[in-house]
Amino acid sequence: MRALLCLNFDFSFWIDPNSQTGREDERAKTYNRTKRVLFVVELVYALAFLLILLVSGASSALARSLEILATNIWLTVLLYVFIVGVAYDVIAVPLEFYGGFVHEHRYGQSTQTFSAWAWDQIKSKVVGFAIAAPLIEALYWLLRAYPHRWWLIASVLFIAFAVVMANIAPVLLMPIFYKFIPLRDEELKKRLLALCEKVNTKVRGVYEMDMSRKTRAANAALVGLGNTRRIVLGDTLFERYEPDEIEAILAHELGHHMNWDMWKGLLFQSAISMLGFFVASVVLNAYGASFGSRGPADITSFPLLVLTCAGVALVFLPVSNAFSRRLERRADSFALTITGDPAAFVSMMLKLGEQNLSEFEPNPIVEFILYSHPSVKRRIAHARRMFPAFEGKAAEG
Ligand SMILES: [Zn+2]
Repeated sequence: MRALLCLNFDFSFWIDPNSQTGREDERAKTYNRTKRVLFVVELVYALAFLLILLVSGASSALARSLEILATNIWLTVLLYVFIVGVAYDVIAVPLEFYGGFVHEHRYGQSTQTFSAWAWDQIKSKVVGFAIAAPLIEALYWLLRAYPHRWWLIASVLFIAFAVVMANIAPVLLMPIFYKFIPLRDEELKKRLLALCEKVNTKVRGVYEMDMSRKTRAANAALVGLGNTRRIVLGDTLFERYEPDEIEAILAHELGHHMNWDMWKGLLFQSAISMLGFFVASVVLNAYGASFGSRGPADITSFPLLVLTCAGVALVFLPVSNAFSRRLERRADSFALTITGDPAAFVSMMLKLGEQNLSEFEPNPIVEFILYSHPSVKRRIAHARRMFPAFEGKAAEG
């Protein structure tokens, strides 16, 4: 779910850039190191939970009890997913609290009170379930109706689902978490709309989003498709950024739009999910019965299905990220070409890096495996390569 939203709502600068002083860079390093440890711990936690569910026989016991209780197969699937989902959410509370609240406050990134944070968690669980439940129902219907080809149909449906999500996210989902108001700075609005016009892109309005209620971090995005396409600026941008720096951010987002990156990302992800579903179909047939499953369409083997798809996604994580970094570099090239302003691009990168506590120069192996965007150092070096004259000017200054 989060990944799907990211395809459309570009978290470009979320993980990346950083700062000038050594002390701040050290702070960014420890902040990100802890985040990576938490990522691995959460992953191990989730995988262990699914494995225990399967091996202990709890999954098949739950499925059999629900079959007696529920009147039909759809309800059995729904109740199973609900119970397993709630059980995981409950045992994951300490991890989520530490990663999402304690750690962010310790580094001064979060501006949320505990109750606001908790309320956001509850909302995201409800929204997550409302989206996941129909998807899982559809997947199990395919498993029952097309036992041999379900994996192929499911991966095609994935694209259709992602397109629908891209359309409704800005108007239905994002307002659940943020308030949007039309941008009040008329001068900036004119400037940003002129940039869109320059590349023949129609947008339905420019909005500001109250990110400052939750975080210190800044971001901006071009979200939605067709009638829902709009420019969204985090209100955390307004104090520190010059209009030409905000323009550079929008230019990068327009680069994604002009290069059809959302569609490229969707095709890439659906290819990976096709492979994941295919491997899952083989694994479910071969090993499902060992865990008490009566066939691939039995909800008992749901943890096995998730484990297999997650395993495939993990193996391909470095490839997905390399693909993403390539699209990001091209969007940067596009931004630098249409604005012709490397100085604004570089100063924007440095400010965002500092504000979002990103590492200026992460460990290359970590960058290769985990970074969906090139590091700030690489992005700035890329800008300097595109404008050798600017590099000269910077060196003189
Ligand atoms: Zn981007």
